[in-house]
Amino acid sequence: MPLSPEELIRPEVIALRAYHVPDAQGMIKLDAMENPYELPQAMREEVARLAAGAALNRYPDPSASELKQLLRHAMRIPAEADILLGNGSDEIIQLIALALNRPGAALLAPEPSFVMYRMIATFCGMRYVGVPLAERFALDREAMLSAIDREEPALVFIAYPNNPTGNLFDESALEAILDAAPGLVVMDEAYHAFAGASFMPRLSRYPNLLVMRTLSKLGLAGLRLGFLAGARRWLEQLDKLRLPYNVNVLTQVIAARLMENVGTLEEQARRIVAQRGGLLDALHGIEGVEVFSSDANFILFRIAGARRVFENLKEQRVLIKLLDGTHAMLRDCLRVTVGTPQENTLFIAALKTSI
Ligand SMILES: *Cc1c(COP(=O)(O)O)cnc(C)c1O
Repeated sequence: MPLSPEELIRPEVIALRAYHVPDAQGMIKLDAMENPYELPQAMREEVARLAAGAALNRYPDPSASELKQLLRHAMRIPAEADILLGNGSDEIIQLIALALNRPGAALLAPEPSFVMYRMIATFCGMRYVGVPLAERFALDREAMLSAIDREEPALVFIAYPNNPTGNLFDESALEAILDAAPGLVVMDEAYHAFAGASFMPRLSRYPNLLVMRTLSKLGLAGLRLGFLAGARRWLEQLDKLRLPYNVNVLTQVIAARLMENVGTLEEQARRIVAQRGGLLDALHGIEGVEVFSSDANFILFRIAGARRVFENLKEQRVLIKLLDGTHAMLRDCLRVTVGTPQENTLFIAALKTSI
């Protein structure tokens, strides 16, 4: 008899719960921080033309040098920083954890935060250390500094703004963490387009800082492209673990051209930020809803009986994210992505009848 999966697979993998993506067929989809707007028709035609002309019979350029150059310009990456590309930024998190998972090495992150930090740490064999956030999800500066002192983490992940809470953490607390951390600190700026704050300009000041971004929340979630910016001495080591063709031919040519027109995506992001204000106001106006401020393209809120509210919304074909049960601090919390004006209006109307 050959061994069973349970006998062969690492127990920490067996114990993991798979990242669940619900079926969103026919739903108003406000669960995954996607940009609700399509590309303008002219750009869609340009994408079709690029796809038609792409050399699908050839392997992609393993260094993706043209794309990197356009990204550097579009994302204002400092000239002295190197760039590493990933198949989404999730892949980059995994790559960093794979490189740093010496025996006993820890990945530390505030929590609640992005669930993939814990998940990837676990399946890459790193020790995960979560440090609870303070009141209203502010960074607990003292708790972070003492955990760093005690655990000496090889890797600290900070989502800036944080997901699922939506807020930016205090800059001076983050600088204190950068000064205190003995290992690598990665600022995950997935929501940069909606935040107006970044650690990118501080790359030259902190030798152990890397800044990670993704095109997913900016409107290109389907393309799968994330990047890491920072000192060559770090990125040249991490690059050894990157599979050579991780960014495919279509993504390379399409993302490169779209970066030349990044203003269109940034304009959509500005519309989303404007809508966020209206959605915050509408949520504040509903009795029994506790709303948290947001620097991202989603809003966290709390309501008694969140699970039932979530199900009621789903019955009305509105899909948001239920966070109750994922972390003690997220009891009765829900997260809604900012959609188009029509989607937001429908969501608010559906929410009022769901309470
Ligand atoms: C969405 C998200 C990512 C992952 O984005 P990719 O689509 O894999 O590029 C990374 N970090 C945070 C905090 C996110 O919310």
